[in-house]
Parts: sequence; structure tokens; C-alpha cells
Amino acid sequence: MPDATTHCDIAIAGGGLAGCLIALALAERQPQLDVRIVETGAALGGNHVWSFFDSDVAEADRWLITPLIVHQWQDYDVLFPKLKRTMSATYNSITSDRLDAYVRQVLPAERIICADVKDVTPDRITLGDGRTVTARLTIDARGGGDLSTLKLGWQKFVGQKVHVPGGHGLTRPIVMDATVDQIDGYRFVYCLPFDAETVFIEDTYYSDTPDLDVPAIRERIIAYAAAKGWQTNGGGHEETGVLPVIIGGDFDAYWRSTGSGIAKAGIRSGMCQPTTGYTLPDAVRLAARIAAHPDMTPAQFEALARRHWKARGYYRLLDTMLFGAAVPNQRYRIFERFYGLSASLIERFYAGQSTLLDKARILTGKPPVPIVRAIRAIWGLRK
Ligand SMILES: Cc1cc2nc3c(=O)[nH]c(=O)nc-3n(C[C@H](O)[C@H](O)[C@H](O)COP(=O)(O)OP(=O)(O)OC[C@H]3O[C@@H](n4cnc5c(N)ncnc54)[C@H](O)[C@@H]3O)c2cc1C
Repeated sequence: MPDATTHCDIAIAGGGLAGCLIALALAERQPQLDVRIVETGAALGGNHVWSFFDSDVAEADRWLITPLIVHQWQDYDVLFPKLKRTMSATYNSITSDRLDAYVRQVLPAERIICADVKDVTPDRITLGDGRTVTARLTIDARGGGDLSTLKLGWQKFVGQKVHVPGGHGLTRPIVMDATVDQIDGYRFVYCLPFDAETVFIEDTYYSDTPDLDVPAIRERIIAYAAAKGWQTNGGGHEETGVLPVIIGGDFDAYWRSTGSGIAKAGIRSGMCQPTTGYTLPDAVRLAARIAAHPDMTPAQFEALARRHWKARGYYRLLDTMLFGAAVPNQRYRIFERFYGLSASLIERFYAGQSTLLDKARILTGKPPVPIVRAIRAIWGLRK
């Protein structure tokens, strides 16, 4: 049992993806700093497989993420009713198990505090059992804020690792298989071949609602595997996700919903790719930045998140069209058209770094949604 008060340089509330990346970045680049993580769960990182393209992470920041990679492929497929394409791009997966093990390898045991955080102020984390961790800087990375301050669609999914005795035959990931029945919005299946006999199958929905019917989706995963001719022994590791797809909303209200004057990271800061709800690329960028500027103040964290929100307005506009203009079972057409565009444009899109030309290119040509509905959606749905 540590002392009632622990003092350190930087204290991080929440040992999920963002909190752990910051701790790892500081351990590597500022080893003189005493950095503590407070995580309520028994394991750091929860229960996730996180994936990203090489192009999501700047060359200069790769040192941070490379030790966490457990699977890597050099290309991937997308499948739509009228488009089948193999894209050449390095795709990587990291798992929460690996993140947990690596953080424990890098940080001395006393730096990881397993406890529930009750309160965070700019220089103090109060734990549920009354202990406190005081620090020059605290960073709150305890997951999402009040989502009711935002206008949202949802990307939701159930993923299962399945064993296919004799082999599944996949040599590369299928990042989107949208040839499946379109149910509950835009539906696609995502497959990661972890080894010759193991494939991670995730059934995903761009839906108007956050409700996740896990038993029904499990059945669809089994049916998908059977349709592929994969005789499986049933599911192994399972994960579920309901990620916000941000259409609009009030950044200030979202930020305030988790307190003012405090440095925040991860989805709590609103820093994500609004169309995918993915946070990894921004979490790596932020962690590398903190490691280079460990004197960042809470006001600088907030200013950065606000700039980020502003810069991502274009993706929220696309989300408005996706959810407001496209008939739910026709949403796949937007992605089908998108995947016909250039490989480099697609890479920049996922990294949240589309150029002006990319933005124009995505919106020009024959629109995949009715234009009148699109205009109505833009005026009606966005704040
Ligand atoms: C199943 C799944 C798969 C995903 N896959 C991808 C992907 O492939 N690529 C991608 O970029 N994004 C992905 N995402 C989206 C996003 O990147 C993740 O949700 C990511 O984990 C968010 O990171 P975070 O650090 O902000 O929050 P989290 O990783 O959720 O971390 C928050 C941490 O805070 C802890 N915590 C909360 N409350 C307290 C408390 N009171 N006291 C102490 N600790 C507390 C939690 O236990 C948790 O560990 C995925 C999300 C899910 C759910």
C-alpha cells in the first residue's frame, strides 16, 4: 500500500491507449521525470485490438509505436458490390495485452497505480480510497466525456478471433467487406489474418443508434465464416466497440463536461478522426509532442484540442452527408466511391490529414448521395 500522498512530476489518470502512450513517450525521451499512471482496471489498455496504417504515424514518431506492433501486413483488400481492390499499404495491429506487458516492462512497478480515480485537478489526482497523487502536471485520459454535447452517428462492432483448423487461406486483411447484407446502416466485415489458422472477424455498422445486439452479431460472424467456407471451433477473444462518429456539436461544452483547466488526452480531449472515431494517430502525435515539450501547460493542451476540432470540420461535414443524406442501406455507396480514389488520398484521409485538393476530390464527380438531401442534411443536422 503506497503512502497516502505520492508526489511525482506528471500524473496520468487512465491507463488506456492515450495514457499509456504518453507514459511510454516520456519514459523514452524524458527518463529523468517521475511519471505515474493511475488505472482502475487490472490490465492497462482494456480489451482491444488497435490497428493503423504506417501512413497514420509520422516517420519521426514511429519509435513510440513500433515496439507495440504484434501483426503487420504489406497490403489489404476492400470488397464492395462493384469494386474489389487490393491496396498496397503497410497495416499494423497492436493489442491491449502487448500494451500492458510493454508498459510494465518499461515503467518501474511503483509508477503504475491500480486504483479508481475520484477527482483530477491541475496538480492532484484524488483516488477513491482517499490517497492522493500530487504532480507538477496531471493529464486526464479517462476515456470519453459527455457525448450528449455532440451530434453523433455511431460506428459499432463485435470482433471475434476464430480458429480455422486447416487454414482460412487469407494472406492479407480485408479492411472492408461490404458485399454482406446491409443491415442497420452501412455494414461491413473486417478480417485480420493473425496466422494461417487464426482470423479476427469484426462485424461493423455505421448506424444511427449506439445499441449493439451482441448475440445477433455473433450469429452473423458465424454465418460470415461459414459462407467463406471456414469451419471454425467457435470464437476465442471477443471485443465490442461503440465509437462516436462526430457530425457536429459544441466543442467547448464537450471539453467542460470533464472539467476546466485540466490537461486531457485521448478521446476525452475530443482528438479523433471524426469519421472513424479512431484515436490512435492523434494519440501518438500528442504523446510525441508531450515528450518533446514536457512543460506543456493545461491551457496549451486545451488550445491544441480546440485547433484540432476546428481543423477536422471537413470530416464532420462528410459525416453529416453520410448520416443525413444517404439512405441507411445505401451508405455503402459513399465508401465504394471513396475506395475508387487514389491510394495516397485514402491514406491521408485515415490519418486525418487530407489536403485541400483531397477534400475537393472527395466531393467532386457524380455524388453518391442525392444532392438535395445532402444540402438539407448539412443545414439541418450540423450545428
Ligand atoms: C474495441 C475497440 C477497438 C478499437 N479499435 C481502434 C483501432 O483499431 N484504431 C484506432 O485508432 N482506434 C480504435 N478504437 C477507438 C479508440 O482508439 C479507442 O477507444 C481508444 O482506446 C481510446 O483511447 P483513450 O486512451 O482515449 O481511452 P481508453 O483506451 O478507453 O482509456 C481510458 C482508460 O481510463 C480508465 N479509467 C476510466 N475511468 C477511470 C477511473 N475513474 N479511474 C482510473 N481509471 C479510469 C479506463 O479503465 C481505461 O483504461 C477502438 C475502440 C474500441 C472500443
